[in-house]
Amino acid sequence: MTATRNETGPRLADLARQDVPVAAWCRDCGHHRVLPVASLLSRMDGRTAVVAVARRLRCSSCNGRAIETRPHYAGLGVVAGHRWHGD
Ligand SMILES: [Zn+2]
Repeated sequence: MTATRNETGPRLADLARQDVPVAAWCRDCGHHRVLPVASLLSRMDGRTAVVAVARRLRCSSCNGRAIETRPHYAGLGVVAGHRWHGD
């Protein structure tokens, strides 16, 4: 088993089990938000790597595609004085 692609790491199904949402942000305009895994699973397979989710997303602010995603584990800077978009 060799991982030749960079789509390793946790997958959506892993986060769903741990009840961890996905943090996504736009490298163009800095817009970011936290996406519930359930809403992603309604559109994507549970085997989708979290880092690969970014390719399916588009910035709701500037419509850009320079998106990055990662697991939004609780406690990692959730969110001192910063308000995440939650629309
Ligand atoms: Zn943007």
